[in-house]
Amino acid sequence: MASYDEPLFGEAAPAIFQTSLFGFDTVAEFERAVAEEAPYYTRGKNPTVALFESEVARLEGAEAARAFSSGMGAIAAALFAFLRPGDRVVANRPVYAGAHNLLTGILARFGVETTFVETRDTEGFLRAIPGARLLYLESPASYTFEVLDLEPIAEAAHAEGALVLIDATYTAGVLSRPLSHGADLVLHSASKYFSGHSDVVAGVAAGRAELVRALKEPYMLLGAKLAPFEAWLLLRGLRTLELRLKAHRETAARAAALLKAHPAVRRVYWAEDDPLSKKYLKHGASLVSIELADEAAARSFADRLRHFKVGVSWGGHESLVLPLFAQPRVARAYGFPKGLVRIHFGLEPTERLLEDLERALSRLS
Ligand SMILES: *Cc1c(COP(=O)(O)O)cnc(C)c1O
Repeated sequence: MASYDEPLFGEAAPAIFQTSLFGFDTVAEFERAVAEEAPYYTRGKNPTVALFESEVARLEGAEAARAFSSGMGAIAAALFAFLRPGDRVVANRPVYAGAHNLLTGILARFGVETTFVETRDTEGFLRAIPGARLLYLESPASYTFEVLDLEPIAEAAHAEGALVLIDATYTAGVLSRPLSHGADLVLHSASKYFSGHSDVVAGVAAGRAELVRALKEPYMLLGAKLAPFEAWLLLRGLRTLELRLKAHRETAARAAALLKAHPAVRRVYWAEDDPLSKKYLKHGASLVSIELADEAAARSFADRLRHFKVGVSWGGHESLVLPLFAQPRVARAYGFPKGLVRIHFGLEPTERLLEDLERALSRLS
């Protein structure tokens, strides 16, 4: 299998196995490949994708990992692998909107019920867990970045025989390792920090080998396989992951301080302000949300920013702003205040971004 440790010609960047199939000279060789789960068809296994999977497993301290064609592909495969009709899920809120919609939409139609508990309501989790089959968690929580008290919650889940899945897109295997705090399987949208360049949509799941193995059937049959070229781009992204996260954090932390001191800003949501961040996070990253007076203020702020595009997703070089009222389904599901705006601080010069924020806010107060 391809690896950084065993290059073919001393190549610094890994080869891309841009092939859909692998051909064999004899039936016996083909049979051996199938039996040994060696590459024979890229939807099942591809060496470039496998190298990305092993790098993510190493980052998360996991035995194994499986890559998907999107974060939602990984989330959906994991939920379909472990849930049956009649099962109950306990999830924190707010989780990523796609996961929320999957749980309350398709999975509800298939007879899976979900109980949502506020991220910081640990007591609420302990009450909701008995009888649950699976916990679907995300920390820091999407949009508002509260930190979940994973250890006691995972312990209570395991006492009930429930599996603990956690979306760790924000922490990216660098800021936290949820498997070491009791999670059974971590899920990522690799489209964010793992890519880091806004040029890939991808996902990955990592954990104990037996759990990753259980993803094999939905992985093969739902067809959400990561393509080799995307895996190659992700391998390039991973090499600068830690550096990028530090740089994102530097700007976001300074911006959070500026925003907290500004009279037009009612509330600032920044993961490092959560009391549990010391226990679970090395440091915060690029995301800060703010609450402005109302929808008009949020619209005017977003429109006036010159160096932040209005857009979904995050994790790349470019700074982005997302007024949540412009995503009505998410905003309604979570009852977000009308003036809530999520900001991703990219890798542009910090001073330029801070000046831009001040200018956009100065018209509001
Ligand atoms: C973007 C995102 C997802 C979904 O990932 P895709 O790659 O867009 O399918 C899931 N969870 C979180 C936290 C995300 O930010």
